[in-house]
Amino acid sequence: MNVDLLKDKIRNCGLKCTATRLAVLEYLVTVHRPVSTQEIIQNLKETAINEVTIYRILESFVEKKLITPVDHWNRHRLYEAHMEKSCQVNHAHFSCQQCETVLCIEENTLQISTIPLPPGFQLKQVRLQIEGICPNCIK
Ligand SMILES: [Zn+2]
Ligand SMILES: [Zn+2]
Repeated sequence: MNVDLLKDKIRNCGLKCTATRLAVLEYLVTVHRPVSTQEIIQNLKETAINEVTIYRILESFVEKKLITPVDHWNRHRLYEAHMEKSCQVNHAHFSCQQCETVLCIEENTLQISTIPLPPGFQLKQVRLQIEGICPNCIK
């Protein structure tokens, strides 16, 4: 991932590009799946960013539409950041019923935008959640 591109994304939202903001965004873009605040905190432990700061950064990123909140079974709020345009609009989430890992399934493999609608209707956004068991839990 191009770090300069991420810096630009943050600045283009009118936010100051601090090392902390960059670390949070870089983590989200790198994992490329929805993650919980706890997971972000856990993974950025070495950088010694305090939790309150992370919560605040996530809130400001959502507000600026830099990242997307994903509601997971109405239990945890997860966050994801996709830089590709196609991912931002239509893609599905696979949730493992056992370990609760959530993965993104990209638009091009699913062709969500070809879902037939009644005549005259216009598709704006699809939120699709698929549940099953991941390979780690099948073992
Ligand atoms: Zn699993
Ligand atoms: Zn996703």
